[in-house]
Amino acid sequence: MSADPLLSVDSVDAGYGDTQVLCDLSLSVEAGEIVSLVGRNGAGKTTTLRTIMGILQPTSGHVTYDGTDISALDATETAQQGLALVPEERRIFPDLTVTENLELAAHGGTADGDSLSVAEVLEMFENLRERAGNAGSSLSGGEQQMLAIARALVSGADVVLLDEPTEGLAPYIVRDVMDIVAALNDRGITVLLVEQNVQVCLELADRNYLVDQGQIVYEGTAAELGANEDVLDRYLGVT
Ligand code: ATP
Repeated sequence: MSADPLLSVDSVDAGYGDTQVLCDLSLSVEAGEIVSLVGRNGAGKTTTLRTIMGILQPTSGHVTYDGTDISALDATETAQQGLALVPEERRIFPDLTVTENLELAAHGGTADGDSLSVAEVLEMFENLRERAGNAGSSLSGGEQQMLAIARALVSGADVVLLDEPTEGLAPYIVRDVMDIVAALNDRGITVLLVEQNVQVCLELADRNYLVDQGQIVYEGTAAELGANEDVLDRYLGVT
């Protein structure tokens, strides 16, 4: 592990127009980690991912990736640097087939030597392989989520920002998505995971940050967070 984190957010303020959402928010992710951001609805988790990705620019503070200040970059530029965002709404192309969705992502990505090919990714995702010729719109919610994650993989991303990948999925599909996240991490991809499902974080993440009202209010390992009933109850209402 390097001395400096791969991704760091330092004292960031960000929001929408006059509405400030993030307030002096700082976090860091080491290369190879799975780090989660948990918190209630409206806490600022999606806004944090958007600010890292460059969809929003911080009004104060810095985002640093692999030693470079990326605070002023837009989403196309951060993607070229090796970041990929899988948004909550998944954003696959419904009229294109699974393979076409992947080919388009491969074309638009960094396409560096580390990228997985479309064939390699289809090898990893059995469900998608079986539906390679089917339109995106014909996939179930879980399959669409897997396609969205697979698109990030073929784009050559080194860091994947996942926004609520298990949202709205049946429990057995949640398990499949968790296996996929673990598998891509095994391949060396660093993951920043936004989740409302604390159990997913406790099982998958090396470290967890709790966000409340645009600020980090707690940081801990899965064991620490899982044992901290006060924090779980106060910020997540899950005890
Ligand atoms: P959720 O799980 O509900 O998505 P979240 O923690 O991801 O919650 P954000 O989506 O980051 O929260 O929203 C944080 C705050 O920013 C909320 O008060 C929300 O209403 C506000 N917000 C989000 N998007 C916009 C927008 N496009 N314009 C104005 N305010 C917004």
